[in-house]
Amino acid sequence: MAAKILYIEDNPLNMRLVRKLLRSFGYTMIEAIDGASGLKMVRQEQPDLILVDVNLPDIDGLEITARLKADPDFAHIPIVALTANAMHGDREHCLNAGCDGYIAKPITRQELHNTIAHLLSSAQSASAS
Ligand code: MN
Repeated sequence: MAAKILYIEDNPLNMRLVRKLLRSFGYTMIEAIDGASGLKMVRQEQPDLILVDVNLPDIDGLEITARLKADPDFAHIPIVALTANAMHGDREHCLNAGCDGYIAKPITRQELHNTIAHLLSSAQSASAS
């Protein structure tokens, strides 16, 4: 079965781009446009991986990550932060919050594909062992 990926993103253009890319990679995508609905969707849908925009209108992506990583029901789900401000130290903030991966916008097809494929295969071998 195709992996189910949740993307939490308030920017429609990024959402559209990622929708197109994930579809071409063969993944199933579910979408949320803010942090509160994203967290609700994690509970309802149990995604295999989460892509989260760092800058969201309500709860920021790092806070979402920290909350999920603190919850034993969801801590195993790989989370990739996507950030527009690729500033020095940004990657560290994401990893400190518990993100498993980090992508600086603009999103490229290759980087998105590699990051997701790598994390999904790690998660799969972790649950099999
Ligand atoms: Mn945003």
